[in-house]
Parts: sequence; C-alpha cells; structure tokens
Amino acid sequence: MSLLSSNAKISINPLKCLRTEYLYNDCSSCIEACPVEALSISHAKRISLDSAVCIDCNACIGVCPTTTFSNSEFDPIAFILKSGLDKDLVLSCKITGQCLSVFGVENLISLGLREKSLTLDMSHCKTCENINCDGKVEAQIRAAMSEANRFLAPIGINEIVAQETKLEMSRREALFSFATEAQALSDDSSEFDKLFDPKETLPKSRLVLQNSLKYSIENFTVQIIDDKFSFLSNKKIDFDSCTNCGDCLQFCPTNALFYGGEKTKILFQQTRCIACGICDDICKPKSISSDNNFDMVSLAFGRAEVLIENNFVTCKECKVDFPQKHSETVCNRCIDFIQNNTKLFTLARDM
Ligand code: SF4
Ligand code: SF4
Ligand code: SF4
Repeated sequence: MSLLSSNAKISINPLKCLRTEYLYNDCSSCIEACPVEALSISHAKRISLDSAVCIDCNACIGVCPTTTFSNSEFDPIAFILKSGLDKDLVLSCKITGQCLSVFGVENLISLGLREKSLTLDMSHCKTCENINCDGKVEAQIRAAMSEANRFLAPIGINEIVAQETKLEMSRREALFSFATEAQALSDDSSEFDKLFDPKETLPKSRLVLQNSLKYSIENFTVQIIDDKFSFLSNKKIDFDSCTNCGDCLQFCPTNALFYGGEKTKILFQQTRCIACGICDDICKPKSISSDNNFDMVSLAFGRAEVLIENNFVTCKECKVDFPQKHSETVCNRCIDFIQNNTKLFTLARDM
C-alpha cells in the first residue's frame, strides 16, 4: 500500500511529519488548524487524514512546518517562484482558486520580500460558508499575516495589507491574466522541483525564504530582529552540562545542529532550524535553550555558529576520551560508577 493517501486534492505524506521523525514529538498544528476534524493521530501514532471529511481548505498546508501536506491543484512554492519580482501583488481566493490559508507565514514573508507590495484580499472570508464556517480559517490567515508583518516591519520592508472590501472589477481584470498564468504553472510544480536537491532535508518553504532574504537584504534597515517567531529558534547549548552525547544532532530533522572538528565542536545554523523542539526534548541534561535574536545575514547566507567547543582528554580510570569541562581527570561515567558502587568497594576492601 502506498504511504501517500489522498482525496480529490489534499495529500498527506506521514513520513515528513515531525511525529514520524521523533516518536515523542507532540506537534499538533495541523490538527488544531483543521476546521472539520479531518486529521487525527492513528493507533500507529502517525498523522492521518480522513479524506471523506476533508474539505480541501488548505489550512494544514499553511501551518505544517515540514510540508507533510500538498494540494494536487496548487503548489504555493511554485506560485511564489512564478509570481515574479517587484510587483504590486494581490492574493485573492477568487484569483488563485484556493483559500489563502495555503500560504504559511514563511510563504507570506517570502512574497513580502520579493514583491513591491503584497495585499491579501480578505473581502470574501465573511461570506465563505464552505471553508470559513466558524471563522477559524480566516483567523489563521490573519494570524499568519500578522506574524509575517512582525518579521517584515523591523527590517524596513513594506508590511502586508489586508483588503477588506471587494476589488473593483477593473483592478481584478488587470490581475486576471497574471493570476491565470501563475496558477497554471503552480499546477505543474515539476518545473520547480529540479531547482531543489532531492536529498535536501530543509523544507522548500525555508529554502525559498532564505533565497528571498538574499534577494532583498540590501534594503534592510536593521540586521538583527529581537522577537519570538513560530517558525524560527536560535539555539544555545550550556557548556558545563552538555555531555556531547550527540542525541540532539542525530535527531535534528534538518541538520541545523551538526558536529565540526572531529566531533569536538557542535555548530548551529540558524537558517536550518524550523523550531520543532525535538532537540530541547531529547537532551537529557536539558542543556539546550533558545533566544529571540535573529540575524538576517545568518538567515540569508546560512552562516553557522559554534555553540560548544570541547577539549577531549583521556579518562585516567577507563582510558576513554571524554569532553573535559574544567580540570577533571575522570569521566562522568566513571564518577557515576564509583559513586553508585561505593558500598560494594568498601565491602570488598573490608573482606
Ligand atoms: S503540522 Fe505537520 S509536523 Fe505537525 S503534526 Fe501536523 S503533519 Fe506533523
Ligand atoms: S546538548 Fe544535550 S543532547 Fe546535545 S550533545 Fe549536549 S547533552 Fe547531548
Ligand atoms: S535545532 Fe532543534 S528545534 Fe531546530 S530544527 Fe533542529 S531539532 Fe528542531
């Protein structure tokens, strides 16, 4: 049986889900976003889609950090790449034929960076009974727009605006030819697939964001943003408590954390971190923390930072190399062993 299950439009590839990546991950963004409870966690602890209930609203596509979901009729990444640069772009469900919830925060930021101006036509939400049944999907679009603006405003890029009244016919007609072309090409995402390395573990939405940052970085008014974002995390590791076990690196789904210099250094690439939280959960001594400083140059150009640099010495008890924190000569494993077996040693000596 194929892992890909699909109804008319929305497909799910559970292999991309963070819960598949790490059994204890508790991401539920798609389940919370779905307005009709079409998503659930199966007995096998995998995300599962009930195609009979799904209304093809795209809300899951917009919120998933790992592009687990796709719409057979519309690829937001293909749309972004095809939409060109430096335009006054209006996104409207009446033009794209898709609910605007298909665009996640990173997609909106990418469009905001690439275009002269970006407007979201929200004038149809209130009367949209099929998808925006209880206002939930509209709230998701507005939340994504607001988060995108928190990112764009401090760096001096035009904020995304919402259009609340219906578009004038002349303006809509002017947009129509561009939209038809863009939508037609968004259907054929294979044209863009060759732009992406199939072995790349970073979601396409992040790769496009990184590229869009590079495109407009010359216009930025500041380099560092200090704010909290749902899709970014800036990791730090506490030198004293980290045991260099490597679990965080092994389970990081995007290789944002990686070893350098014969495993003596742990490095972090801000632009590759999707804020999944797996490293925080998996680190036994709880050595990993995050701050809210995001460096636009690091994000755009993939600069890596050394978080930990260890000096390895040979333990005088077990003769195995260990990361020395200060001037200790015995590794933690031997210290634990000696402490746990003190009574045994005393008994053996007395006998
Ligand atoms: S939003 Fe994506 S990663 Fe999170 S549970 Fe849903 S499918 Fe998995
Ligand atoms: S940060 Fe935690 S999980 Fe990563 S190497 Fe250090 S102790 Fe291990
Ligand atoms: S660094 Fe941590 S939070 Fe970021 S992607 Fe890797 S595991 Fe997830």
